[in-house]
Amino acid sequence: MKKMIRKAFKFRLNTTSEQSQKMIEFAGANRFVWNKALAMNLFRLEQKQPLLWYNELAFWLKLWKSSEDYGFLKTVHSQPLQQTLKNLEKAFKDGFDKKQSLKRVPRFKKKRASDSFRYPQGFKLEQESNKVFFPKIGWVKYRNSRQVIGDVKNMTISRKGKHWYVSIQTEYEAEIQHHKSTSMVGIDMGITRFATLSDGSYIEPLNSFRKLSKKLAFEQRKLSKKVRFSANWKKQKQIITRLHERIANARLDFLHKTSTEISKNHAMIVVEDLKVRNMSKSSKGNIEQPGKNVKAKSGLNKSILDQGWGMFVSFLEYKQAWSGGDVMRVNPQYTSQICPSCHHVSRDNRKSQSAFACTECGFKANADLVGALNVLERGHRLLACGVETLVSSVKQEPVGSSNTSLLLTA
Ligand SMILES: [Zn+2]
Repeated sequence: MKKMIRKAFKFRLNTTSEQSQKMIEFAGANRFVWNKALAMNLFRLEQKQPLLWYNELAFWLKLWKSSEDYGFLKTVHSQPLQQTLKNLEKAFKDGFDKKQSLKRVPRFKKKRASDSFRYPQGFKLEQESNKVFFPKIGWVKYRNSRQVIGDVKNMTISRKGKHWYVSIQTEYEAEIQHHKSTSMVGIDMGITRFATLSDGSYIEPLNSFRKLSKKLAFEQRKLSKKVRFSANWKKQKQIITRLHERIANARLDFLHKTSTEISKNHAMIVVEDLKVRNMSKSSKGNIEQPGKNVKAKSGLNKSILDQGWGMFVSFLEYKQAWSGGDVMRVNPQYTSQICPSCHHVSRDNRKSQSAFACTECGFKANADLVGALNVLERGHRLLACGVETLVSSVKQEPVGSSNTSLLLTA
């Protein structure tokens, strides 16, 4: 059996100033077309007239191009403009619910916040020489960090801060695989140990990360003492930006290595549902029963950790989808308080951050391992009867796009 896989590859573009100027103009023209067509449709909605769909909108686009007022649209390649109208059509269609009533209306695009446009065709990609071609812009160098695989379906140019990026969407057929392993594992995610597996192994948190976080906090304190927008302030801001990048890269590398390793060895991976976990744990103001040193951690540190777990799970998900395995999310509540041996539930079972000792049967183990065992047990129960409350289902499709976007948002 074969299935179609879609994947997105995102790279930073090394544009010349001329090219970025054109991109700014093109993005502006696309934003103009979007807002103009949206305004027309909103007006029609108000007047209880039927919406204009792509064909009619494309007709209007032609009129605008030949008009004196909007003649600047002629300098822009027509494909991205048409694509923008298609995107608008889709945004309207997605806004309808099952009963065909409009629940969500597309929004106007603001300058800079949404500077992007898509080429559905006309582009070229030369990976060996690290360049892409866009009609009316020309060849642009890009930071080639990995091989693009599959047939290129479209390319989207977008801006984040000062830089322009290209997102290359591809499609290819892949054999549906069966995972080489047949084993199933539960994972407990924590602070003193990044992840503990129900087979007894565990992953230490990234040490360099802790050092860098401390340095970041230090540099940020320094920034707060400087005069805003002064030369020194800008210099300090640069230092912080670079630190953020280093942290993001170190974390990404760590998450990729660890998730690859686990995905390789286990066909079924059971993890805690982080959404549920954050809800239930935040009310207590901490994660399970953190040690005293954990309490002292800054909110920033915690949020970076949280983000790390979320990324870790999403990496596991797409790697499993890739290799024919699966990821299951289970309700994490009380996983640290249930005895894996006699199922007695008590807060007192958890003697400390790291020690679990059952008050009923005397079962003793590392507390994180107990968590992982309980997570695994819930996975087994879910597989056996298919019922568990608060469980979100596993996505079937590999999410290549989220994978690559993570690279940049990290
Ligand atoms: Zn017990």
